[in-house]
Order: sequence, then C-alpha cells, then structure tokens
Amino acid sequence: MTNQSYEEMRENMVKKQLIPRGISSPTVLKAFRRIERHKFVPTGSLNSSYADHPLPIGEGQTISQPYIVALMTESLGLTGSEKILEVGTGSGYQTAVLAELGSKIYSVERVPALADRAGKTLRESGYKNIEIDVRDGSLGWDEHAPYDAIIVTASCPGRPEALLGQLSSGGRLIAPIGGAFGQALTLYRKHDKTIDKREICGCVFVPLIGKEGWER
Ligand code: SAM
Repeated sequence: MTNQSYEEMRENMVKKQLIPRGISSPTVLKAFRRIERHKFVPTGSLNSSYADHPLPIGEGQTISQPYIVALMTESLGLTGSEKILEVGTGSGYQTAVLAELGSKIYSVERVPALADRAGKTLRESGYKNIEIDVRDGSLGWDEHAPYDAIIVTASCPGRPEALLGQLSSGGRLIAPIGGAFGQALTLYRKHDKTIDKREICGCVFVPLIGKEGWER
C-alpha cells in the first residue's frame, strides 16, 4: 500500500519519469497531470497505476508505460485541431491523452471486450470527441480518412502501407516497426509526393494482429 494520493502519484510520474527523459511539451505534460490513469487499469493494479512500466489489462494485452505514451504523443506534434486515428484502443488511456490534445479521435480495437470497457471509462471521464470501433485496425478506418495523425500502439511487421494511405499530406504516423521481440519506434511524415521516416528508439509492443499485421 502507499500513502500517496493519486494526484501525488501523477505529479511524481511527470517529474520523475517524463521530464527527466526529455518530455517537454506543456500540453502533453498537462494531459498527464490531469488524466486519472488509475481509472484505466484493472482494480488489482491500482497501486501500480502510475508506475514506470506497462501493466496487464486482460485479454493478454497491456496499457503501455507512461513514458512511451508521452513520447509517442509528443512526437506527433499535435496543435489541437487534428483528426487522429489510434490503432489499438486497449485500456483507452492513450485515447484520453489524444482527446486532450487533438480535435477528434477515431480509435479502433480488435478485442470487443477491451473496446467496450475503454468506451465506458472514456464516457465516464467525460470525453465527447472520441469514436471507438471494433475492427482490424491494420487496415485503418477508411470512412473517416484522411487523418492528420495516426498512432499505432501494437507492433507492425513492416511499413504500414494501408495506414500511410489514410494519412493526409503533412500528416505524421508513429508506430513500433520490427520483429515480435523488439521494434523501432518509427515516425513517418507524409509530404505531397514522398514519405520520410525517422527511428526514435527501441521498444517492445504486443503484436498488431490483422491483415497488414501479424497472423494470430
Ligand atoms: N494504447 C493502449 C493503452 O493506452 O492502453 C495500449 C494498447 S495495447 C499495447 C495494443 C492493443 O492493440 C491491444 O489492445 C490489442 O488488442 C490491439 N490490437 C492488436 N491488433 C489490432 C488490430 N489489428 N486492430 C486493432 N487493435 C489491435
């Protein structure tokens, strides 16, 4: 047990895990101070809600480490007006971070039970700019394309062509790309006729399972 309040745990997370590792965007830090991460984790993990590592959320899936959520979000360079696609809703925590920083969030999840639970948590938290759908997100969500930003929170075996096709010119896509046991967090930026790519750091994510992902 801990004697710290959740608010103190959030402040510690920001001061000890995010700022020292270089997260500096005031809007990203504000979102991390505000969002009640403990509401997105299973009750058995409440005391670890703000800890410096991923946590299980059921169905063999995880809520990512706070720093990785912050790093991926910051790398999208959001200004508040963006239409964003998130692939891999999971607990809905990253979705909440995006909803604080973008204009409209479309989030897709392949496991119905996770999508239901995340939708409930996000509604109860008051977010009105999020739509969640159960589908194979490796193919994106064509109806609402193009997106100003796309974030993939599960590992892709190679360049995510379908998703890049749904990105607007000037848009950014961040995704873990690589093998099953380790990937490179990769940022793509789309221009009128070209797409450039930058690898940010190594990471380990659960697999993106789908037509343009991994087989089950
Ligand atoms: N961002 C989440 C959070 O904050 O809790 C963590 C996401 S978890 C690391 C990855 C998620 O991607 C899992 O919930 C998994 O079910 C989902 N996923 C895997 N393949 C998918 C696919 N093809 N389409 C949509 N979601 C997928």
